[in-house]
Amino acid sequence: MASSDFLPVTRPAIDEATIAAVGDVLRSGWITSGPKVRDFEARLSALFGGRPVRTMSSATGAMEIALALIGVGAGDEIITTPMSWVATANVVLRAGARPVFVDCDPRSRNIDPALIEAAITPRTRAILPVDLAGLPVDRDRLYAIAGAHKLRVIEDAAQSMGANWAGRMIGTTGDLVSISFHANKNITSAEGGCLVLNDEDETRRCELWRLQGAKKFGDSWDGMDVTLAGGKHNLTDIAACIGLGQLPHLAAFTARRRELARRYFAHFDRSLGCELPLEDYAQCNWHMFQVLLPPGAVRSVFISSMRDAGIGVGVHYPAIHLFTLFRQLGYRPGDFPHAERIGSSTVSLPMFPAMSDSDVDRVLAAMAPALAQALAAGPAAAAGSKRA
Ligand SMILES: *Cc1c(COP(=O)(O)O)cnc(C)c1O
Repeated sequence: MASSDFLPVTRPAIDEATIAAVGDVLRSGWITSGPKVRDFEARLSALFGGRPVRTMSSATGAMEIALALIGVGAGDEIITTPMSWVATANVVLRAGARPVFVDCDPRSRNIDPALIEAAITPRTRAILPVDLAGLPVDRDRLYAIAGAHKLRVIEDAAQSMGANWAGRMIGTTGDLVSISFHANKNITSAEGGCLVLNDEDETRRCELWRLQGAKKFGDSWDGMDVTLAGGKHNLTDIAACIGLGQLPHLAAFTARRRELARRYFAHFDRSLGCELPLEDYAQCNWHMFQVLLPPGAVRSVFISSMRDAGIGVGVHYPAIHLFTLFRQLGYRPGDFPHAERIGSSTVSLPMFPAMSDSDVDRVLAAMAPALAQALAAGPAAAAGSKRA
């Protein structure tokens, strides 16, 4: 199949005006953090109800800064989900703390709020929930638990740009909220992210953690001081310019993703035995469309069979606690059965705003033959053929 016919899992949608604006930034002589970053932050703040927002070169960096802001260090515990991109747990380790995993709810595939309280100890400092595929974690239950136990919340809302809880856009409420603008996220700046903050003091400290802890007095660096060992997390004006060009499309992108999800649901062949995601067109931004393959299907065979049909399929994500790094902390297979089942059977089907309705139909038409191959390669089929 010609590569131009290949349907990827996702693809950013950058308009020509944005491409031209990036050229202007490059010609301007000011390419790192400057006026575009300030403009991007102001617009994000307006979107999030006037809350302070600071951009970073990644959401990973934003979460590292969030952990530093609340003083997380050695001996502390952070409650989180094993069903996420590994950044969510890595930042906890890099802060010197321990990620304490809590299993998922099998329907939402997000951290199960009913299991959080049992994981709280005197060492718990914060809850770090993830809105997988842009389906928001129940914010009412989450903040009720955090409030009752005086815990901070760092929302890993990397995938939730444009999603909402009870009509309030993610980012407008809550404690610290980290959002990603990575190339595959719903709004991109190529690489980038932001942290939504609570007040002026936190914002000032965030700026220090973002750039070497350096503070200048007046207009020049003569007379500067350094008060903490900050990192290097600032966003460039080139990236901010891309982000600025994306923001006006956010509502249309979300609406289009919801339409595509509706089409997947409307035409999905239920007899294939796949487990579909929770059907929500009000709150979820449909960052991804993920189905669980039926028991016995060999996922690698399914993926290569779909690829042969010209369709990209992703895996988001293997359960984090089963990676070597986290087994070294004592985590074992069987600890979080829902996350393990999701992690071993999930596939992400193509989902991006420039997709056409017929692209969805093409994916769905390729499902049955690809699944037949995946099941034929599986243990059940092998046992059956041995008996025969
Ligand atoms: C993408 C992602 C991150 C990391 O974002 P970056 O901007 O790539 O650092 C963290 N958590 C989740 C859930 C993500 O999807």
